[in-house]
Amino acid sequence: MKIFNPATGALVTEVPEDGAYAVRKKYERARAAQSAWAATPIRKRVDAIRGFREQTVARQQTLARTLTQEVGKPIKQSRNELNGLLKRLDFFIAEAARVLREEKVYADEQEKLEERISHEPLGVVANISAWNYPYFVGSNVFVPALLAGNTVLYKPSEFATLTGQHIGEMLHASGVPADAFITVIGGGRTGATLLRQPTDGVFFTGSYATGARIGAAAGRRMIKVQLELGGKDPVYVCEDVDVKAAAASLADGAFYNTGQSCCSVERIYVHERVHDAFVEAFVAEVKSFSIGDPLDERTYIGPVTRRAQLDVLRRQVADAKRKGAKLLTGGNVIAGKGNWFEPTVFAGVDHRMALMRDESFGPVIGIQKVANDPEAIALMNDTPYGLTAGVYSVDEKRARRILAQVRAGSAYWNCCDRVSPRLPWSGVGHSGIGLTLSTYGIQTFTRPKAWHLRGPS
Ligand code: NAD
Repeated sequence: MKIFNPATGALVTEVPEDGAYAVRKKYERARAAQSAWAATPIRKRVDAIRGFREQTVARQQTLARTLTQEVGKPIKQSRNELNGLLKRLDFFIAEAARVLREEKVYADEQEKLEERISHEPLGVVANISAWNYPYFVGSNVFVPALLAGNTVLYKPSEFATLTGQHIGEMLHASGVPADAFITVIGGGRTGATLLRQPTDGVFFTGSYATGARIGAAAGRRMIKVQLELGGKDPVYVCEDVDVKAAAASLADGAFYNTGQSCCSVERIYVHERVHDAFVEAFVAEVKSFSIGDPLDERTYIGPVTRRAQLDVLRRQVADAKRKGAKLLTGGNVIAGKGNWFEPTVFAGVDHRMALMRDESFGPVIGIQKVANDPEAIALMNDTPYGLTAGVYSVDEKRARRILAQVRAGSAYWNCCDRVSPRLPWSGVGHSGIGLTLSTYGIQTFTRPKAWHLRGPS
């Protein structure tokens, strides 16, 4: 499998892809290792994740450079991701033992009866992952999965393979047995092969199209399945905001990671009273972004990781123009080597346009004028997705009233494009099923077992 640098189009390296036989063998190793890993005291499993944290700190420069080289993420943002990973690890390290502890839920001395719940690992789980935040979306799954006593077959995206290999090396160097965490290398075909193994759960992060296939396959097998899929994340800007501050925050929310976040702001609705001022401030902000070599510390916008995505963006731009949207900046593929697209802003958009209903997953955004809160709510709900939604306003009550009516896993007031290890990360509709993070995101890798214990009479 060839790995290309999306900034230059140059070949980075080639790695062998796992075929059907290799995947089967890896599965068998993970199965054989599972009971011993589950029997390892939780303290030791936590120690291993602590070791992984230390490895991440020690190797930060190399890891950031690799990530930038294969994904195209601007180097500062690669380091931010690694620092963010540490916070997630801290959360799991602090919470795992408590969350996984067996609970006594009832006791009656006269009856000599006790009822308890234990949290059993699922067994062997497959983790098929995305490339856009490989450390985040990967660790949300494999870290709590390992802590809970599962063995993990981890297939990084074919666009983040080298990062996936680093992750494997670091976990093994930290005391996770080689067969408790196994990296499976390859693209969609390898993912499909992995899916055919008799695992006990599948945890997927990626697009709706692939997620729907994975959900169907897992459903037939009656195994646990979680799908963390795309978004078309809306934000509504009310007329009472500081327009410049809101524009700066939302431009960052839309264009950070070159717009390739599941929770990137993908559409903005602005109250008609501040619409023009907001658009002006927003476009000025976007025009100030520095585009260029992702290894340069000053770069904010890098290349688009997947070359095929350029066509999606091109099509959305052409469709919006044809239907009468006003192009305010950008709109073109940047000619030359690598996968580059100009940061693009449209106003005068509406929901007949693909730009406002289909995931863009790139540096493109539409801004639509609205007359009032009910119109904003109706538009925010008018896509099949439901990952995150935000409201910018000085009025918390109003923002909460609006957000309560929007179908989304996460609600943001005066912030966006934000994930917290303490809060559940989930979507509704085409954004997926299940959740990661928070204490629920540890329990999700377990099967609660009910214990009815009656003492001898
Ligand atoms: P993708 O669906 O193309 O690929 C995801 C993974 O699935 C890859 O590892 C790929 O090799 C594998 N795959 C592809 N076809 C498969 C098949 N038939 N069977 C099994 N595996 C298969 O998605 P992507 O381009 O890697 O990621 C981008 C998408 O992920 C976006 O839609 C984004 O919004 C979403 N995403 C969601 C979250 C979230 O937390 N909700 C986080 C990050 C990304």
